[in-house]
Amino acid sequence: MLSELLAGWGAEIEIQEVGSGRPNLIACFEGRSTSQSLMLEAHSDTVAVEAMSIPPFDPQIEEGKLSGRGACDTKGSMAAMLLAIRSILDSEGRPPSTLYFVSTCDEELGATGAHHLIKGGFRPNAAIVGEPTELSIVHATKGALRWKVRTHGAAGHSSDPRSGVNAIYRMTRVLELLEGTVSRSLQEKEHPLLGRPTLSVGTIHGGHQANVIPDLCEIEVDRRVLPGEKRDLLTRELAIEISLARAGNEEIAFDLEETEWYPPFEENPSGPLSKILVAACEKVLGSYSHETAPWASNAGVFKEAGIPCLLFGPGSIRQAHTKDEFIDLAEVVQAARVYAEVIRGFGS
Ligand SMILES: [Zn+2]
Repeated sequence: MLSELLAGWGAEIEIQEVGSGRPNLIACFEGRSTSQSLMLEAHSDTVAVEAMSIPPFDPQIEEGKLSGRGACDTKGSMAAMLLAIRSILDSEGRPPSTLYFVSTCDEELGATGAHHLIKGGFRPNAAIVGEPTELSIVHATKGALRWKVRTHGAAGHSSDPRSGVNAIYRMTRVLELLEGTVSRSLQEKEHPLLGRPTLSVGTIHGGHQANVIPDLCEIEVDRRVLPGEKRDLLTRELAIEISLARAGNEEIAFDLEETEWYPPFEENPSGPLSKILVAACEKVLGSYSHETAPWASNAGVFKEAGIPCLLFGPGSIRQAHTKDEFIDLAEVVQAARVYAEVIRGFGS
């Protein structure tokens, strides 16, 4: 167990129960100075294993690559962070500043572990979030806001369609609106680094059987969010758009529910934390690069809470969530050396 390993290394361990069987792990290594604290964070969950072409939980090493679900997203980063901490403890006894290793649950399901951590008041002075960035420093990403939209109708016998109100027909008006007016309006927004926001409908469910007029239809909508866009406003705007839509002359009965929120993320690429990470990359890798990414992560949650934050880790996002996920072990070792330099550089 990770908690036992880290307790054995002298960390003070806290386990937060976020949901049933879904813990956050916080391991604290007190620094020589306790005035500042740095968090290294790597989420513990993975995406599902269906449709994988390799055994998901039987890691194999071939030609320097380790395969298995989560190898790249984001156990590679986690292993590198643990190697870095172990090397600091071995060489220096203690980190220069207080160091937290944190592994949150359910990053892939709305970042609920990270949201829970922040709601509990946890506020380190800076954070490095491990995700597959190909050893680049990612300082801006889009966020994501997800909704369920339900249209309501009235059940009736399908032999007399006018005896009910068809919720699926009503949803087609909503889908036309989302694909048309709402998607076109996104073209008017642009971020200099991240481009345009996007919108996609991912699932649809409705009806019970063919001979019953459906009284309910539900879709899930994924909206990618730019820095500066506000969650509450986006939800209000969508609710207004749908409330203005009509089925014939009738209003559409519907409800709208926010299900997942990943705040967009933007950090100053020349701020103090970036300077430490740049120096670490230059020392270990001989160079550095600043990048941006379209995907969302825990970094937005931490940054929204006022914690200076950057993303850095081994592996490529092209290998994350794939049927044959793997991580290049040489990159894990390089990332570990970079993390170790960050720990040395922070607060010293
Ligand atoms: Zn991840």
